[in-house]
Amino acid sequence: MIRTSLITLAFFAFLGSVQAITLPESAPVPGGVAVIKLDVDEKPVKAYFEKHRVMVLQQGQDWYAIVGLPLSLKPGKYTLSYTTRQQQQRHDFSVVDKEYATQRLTLKNKRMVNPTPKDLVRIGKESKIIHRALATWRATPDVNLNFEMPVEGIISSPYGLRRIFNGEPRNPHSGLDIAAAVGTPIHAPSGGVVLATGDYFFNGNTILLDHGQGLVTMYCHMSKIEVKPGQHVAQGQVIGLVGRTGRVTGPHLHWGVSLNNTMVEPHLFLHQP
Ligand SMILES: [Zn+2]
Repeated sequence: MIRTSLITLAFFAFLGSVQAITLPESAPVPGGVAVIKLDVDEKPVKAYFEKHRVMVLQQGQDWYAIVGLPLSLKPGKYTLSYTTRQQQQRHDFSVVDKEYATQRLTLKNKRMVNPTPKDLVRIGKESKIIHRALATWRATPDVNLNFEMPVEGIISSPYGLRRIFNGEPRNPHSGLDIAAAVGTPIHAPSGGVVLATGDYFFNGNTILLDHGQGLVTMYCHMSKIEVKPGQHVAQGQVIGLVGRTGRVTGPHLHWGVSLNNTMVEPHLFLHQP
């Protein structure tokens, strides 16, 4: 009887460990995520794509690289390289084309389209802080990729839109916009550590969250920031409130997801019902 219980316990412990990791759906397109099964039987030490360290996770007995693909990537053949203590390996994979729509926006505040020289100095400093945060690598054995939607609202602008502000082309949309009333709580979609917070020119009140192994998420335009750098947050914890600070046409959360220093489609991490 005791033996049966032990076996049952071991079985459920095994199930638990298998279910602990949810891999995103593989979407090898510009702005997507390639999920690549690695040909190894021991933990790969390091994996790289385009000189950036790449997330590696174990699911059951198998190892997978989770590779963020830049929106600017041209369709074609690419190579992931990885090393274990024993060997050096390469894996070739194809990136296929994806068309993104174009959006035209009109901003009344012209400085948000053509900032002044003084604004540009500020933008330069802030962009360094943001880029440093996005380049963070924190070694963690597990990363919870089973994200929850950070805010309840309406998707007002999808990821990848080519954008034209007041008739002038600007960078494509690197995140997902969720429209909601000012003051709506924003929840951490997965556990992590607060890397940085600030009030930035374009992004308004912003939080950068580190989830481990190069996965960093970004929350912008908030009316209130409820966390501090260095703070650990749990999945679902309120980190701030929706606002309309920075370059906006209305209250919304701009949610960015960065993997191996690459802003990717946030929807790929939302668990499927
Ligand atoms: Zn946005």
